[in-house]
Amino acid sequence: MARKVSILGATGSIGQNTIDLISRASQEYDVVALTGASNIAQLAQDAIALKADVAVTARDDLLEDLRRALDGSGVEAAAGAQAVTESAARPADWIMSAIVGAAGLAPGLQAARQGTTLALANKESLVCAGPLLMETARGAGTKVMPVDSEHSAIFQALIGEDLAAVERIIITASGGAFRDWPIEELAQATLAEASSHPNWDMGQRITIDSASMFNKAMEVIETREFFGVRPDQIEVIVHPQSMIHALVGFSDGALMAHVGPPDMRHAIGFALHHPDRRHLPVERLDLAAIGQLDFRAPDEVRWPALRLARETLEAGGMMGAVFNAAKETALDRFIVGGLGFTEMSQVVAQTLDHMSTHCDHIDAKMTLDNVLQVDHLARKAAKAAAVKRAG
Ligand code: NDP
Ligand code: MG
Repeated sequence: MARKVSILGATGSIGQNTIDLISRASQEYDVVALTGASNIAQLAQDAIALKADVAVTARDDLLEDLRRALDGSGVEAAAGAQAVTESAARPADWIMSAIVGAAGLAPGLQAARQGTTLALANKESLVCAGPLLMETARGAGTKVMPVDSEHSAIFQALIGEDLAAVERIIITASGGAFRDWPIEELAQATLAEASSHPNWDMGQRITIDSASMFNKAMEVIETREFFGVRPDQIEVIVHPQSMIHALVGFSDGALMAHVGPPDMRHAIGFALHHPDRRHLPVERLDLAAIGQLDFRAPDEVRWPALRLARETLEAGGMMGAVFNAAKETALDRFIVGGLGFTEMSQVVAQTLDHMSTHCDHIDAKMTLDNVLQVDHLARKAAKAAAVKRAG
């Protein structure tokens, strides 16, 4: 019988890579819901080609455009954030959570209630509300498969192993666009310069987050939430070639590394087929041609985001939601041009400070409502910090 699949964030980089894999064996899949936001043409084209039951745009104002694009196809159209979350409740065996940002939290949580498989690319939902998401999944019997390349690598290195024998987990970072820039020039880095990644082809936001190391900072928190290890067991190493995605160190000194080309279709395909391994259309590495792999310690002066992630983990509670909201707000400001590249981490640091002393909600019970409330307050605080800098 065909597997029922839904893709939240179908029009994005992860979504399109997922569709690439599914389209290669479309007879095996029965597509339930595809969701997007602004890219109506892509959403409609894929929904029609894959014969989805429903296509949903997060943008209410684009419902008519979507209806028009789907006209006569038999694919249902829906719009709005609520409709995106509702689409995640339509029964499916495998749901990809690949919306960018905290907007992916409510739909991801909804999908986690199904008791099937949640393929999790949306790291923001783990950073904002890891315990809530993982407990919801556990309670419903949902299998959560990591899609971030590092976490897929860790997951694979842990197969058949006892978590109690894990000493440390090392995630690699390419170093992003500014790895080799003189530190004093970072403040002048432009949007175009920050938006080009040396190794990976990804959405714009995560690409900029790679240059600032906020992506890796988020991934340190993601590692803690996904695998339940202590923060001091998680290390970051700069590895410019992005061939080793992560390493797991065990109590006998062994390090198990996951090596592969920088192609997200590996992690997506692994999450799609697990526990089986199937043929995937990714490059096979020629190690002799690669010749050498390099590593260096991450420089916390160049990348203060890593220190901020550690402070966030130490503070616990809902500081993850603050960290993410502040980061998203600072990134929005950098993209529209109101904030310099290095000011992003300063805004996040100020927001963490402000919220830890001025927000009672930080220690409230972690429910979706409380997380969204903290997210809202942190965005306000981050905006104020950004405006102050611009002024
Ligand atoms: P993209 O920016 O390429 O795509 C984001 C997707 O989310 C699009 O479908 C977009 O729709 C949709 N979207 C945007 N805003 C909203 C909203 N407010 N509500 C609902 N949907 C929305 O992102 P990526 O594919 O790069 O990343 C997706 C997630 O996966 C992120 O959490 C990222 O950190 C994670 N990830 C990505 C990797 C990659 O290689 N790209 C690697 C590891 C993790 P539209 O385009 O139609 O506007
Ligand atoms: Mg990653």
